[in-house]
Amino acid sequence: MWMMFRVVPIMWRAVRPSKVVDMPAVVNSFWMRKGFEGLTFFGQILTPSEETAKLFKVSPAMKNHEMIHLRQAQSCGDSWLRFYLLYIWYWLRALPANRKMKHGAYLLNPFEMEAYRHMNNLNYLANHEATEWRQFAKMKLRDRLAIYRGNVPITSL
Ligand SMILES: [Zn+2]
Repeated sequence: MWMMFRVVPIMWRAVRPSKVVDMPAVVNSFWMRKGFEGLTFFGQILTPSEETAKLFKVSPAMKNHEMIHLRQAQSCGDSWLRFYLLYIWYWLRALPANRKMKHGAYLLNPFEMEAYRHMNNLNYLANHEATEWRQFAKMKLRDRLAIYRGNVPITSL
């Protein structure tokens, strides 16, 4: 139960996204259920277990995915709050996609679309501002679905 409150000091001590240099993976089995890998949380990566936390050290693509979210938060007026509110808003609006595909509302979230599309390109953040999510946000859900189906291998579904 105490695990639940471990996120409080992370939020309390949070600095603006632009001040975050690196995001360590921290285990929180209360907020992160097994099957989930990581969640960018106010400058840290929440993971469900030590094993998963280790993955962020050995998999540059997984780490890159979360670092793309960090850069996206910077592009939201350098505000974690604005990033999370927008994230939730896009997730709610994409909920109908859950009827079309598993985890549709999550995978068609503009922030996730950008992160998944570019996580394997380790130079992405060196060459881009991570604002592609804005283009996806303007698109209809069905157009996002078409892009998703055309560019992302089935294995990540
Ligand atoms: Zn993500």
